[in-house]
Amino acid sequence: MSNQNQRITEFRGRLLRWYRNHHRKLPWRETQDPYKIWVSEIMLQQTTVQAVLPYYRKWEKLFPDIESLSRAPLQKVLKVWQGLGYYQRAKNLHKASRIIKDKFKGQIPPAYHELKKLPGFGPYTTAAIMSFAFDKPYPVVDANVRRVIIRLRRIRQKTSPNDKSLLPFLETHLPLKKSGHFNQALMELGALVCRPKNPRCLLCPVTEFCQAYQAGEQEVIPPPKKRNYQKIEAVIGIIKKSGQILIQKRPSSGLLADLWEFPGGKRAAGESLEQALDREIKEELSVEVAKKNFLTRVHHAYTQFQVDLYAYECRLKNEPHLNRRLRWVTLKAIRRYPVPSGSAKIINFLEEREKNKISGTE
Ligand code: SF4
Repeated sequence: MSNQNQRITEFRGRLLRWYRNHHRKLPWRETQDPYKIWVSEIMLQQTTVQAVLPYYRKWEKLFPDIESLSRAPLQKVLKVWQGLGYYQRAKNLHKASRIIKDKFKGQIPPAYHELKKLPGFGPYTTAAIMSFAFDKPYPVVDANVRRVIIRLRRIRQKTSPNDKSLLPFLETHLPLKKSGHFNQALMELGALVCRPKNPRCLLCPVTEFCQAYQAGEQEVIPPPKKRNYQKIEAVIGIIKKSGQILIQKRPSSGLLADLWEFPGGKRAAGESLEQALDREIKEELSVEVAKKNFLTRVHHAYTQFQVDLYAYECRLKNEPHLNRRLRWVTLKAIRRYPVPSGSAKIINFLEEREKNKISGTE
């Protein structure tokens, strides 16, 4: 065996031993069920393992297989997803489950070329399912894996998520068997040890293979990312009639598509909050605001932007014409609708206010 092959074998052995002894026991790792692995991978693209766990458990209970997901109404799927963000991913899961049911008799096909044609199956998801569920040797490169390889190889130039420069490392190191364990071991190493800040090199099983560590540069490679959040101010109207509140459905494409919210929208440059409210209600409902009282402000950070939502209780001059995207619902019933997280905070506020009214503390 050549020196290089010996080193690769040694690297794999250390990494896989470490993974066997230290990986987190997670529900989607205790199964080979491609459906469960698929759902978990899509959820994990949104956020951390800790944040995903309650969502995954609820999903598993309500939609335990392709059949149950494909039969569920989209609004129910979006409701279960509420709070995870990137709602298009939930829609794609739903849409793909129906295709799998019809075209593949409810079985996820173990073929890369078939998977990648399904909605929401990009190169990452397709490779992850082929590797984790079917143990096929496809490299799986998420942010954790990228960081580990960048440090192992001491890559100083900027890389992007689609950068092919990391693939040669994986192609030479990925074993033909147990590729799923190898890929997951690299991911877990990035999540637990080779963390973005303060990597725990003293606990790392592959320090002697790591060029950044040898050069003392593990803290500066890769350089930290600067996040530029877009900041938005929006106004919303809490419009009541006979104990019910008016809600409307967002358009079926674009941000937060098909979720329900209170009428309103962004404040334009130079407008006061109240002017923005008058304009937005007029534009959306074709009715003028007769009276408004400020209720509360909530702040929410979505992945792509941060929003300050200003809620006003409003009375309208006339009744708006209802259509299929506009509904009167009780405060209790709103809980059944999928809503953006900012609106969910307003709903919490309204519920709290109702409770205080009932108990006489307001
Ligand atoms: Fe990451 Fe440190 Fe291990 Fe290198 S030695 S892979 S920097 S944890």
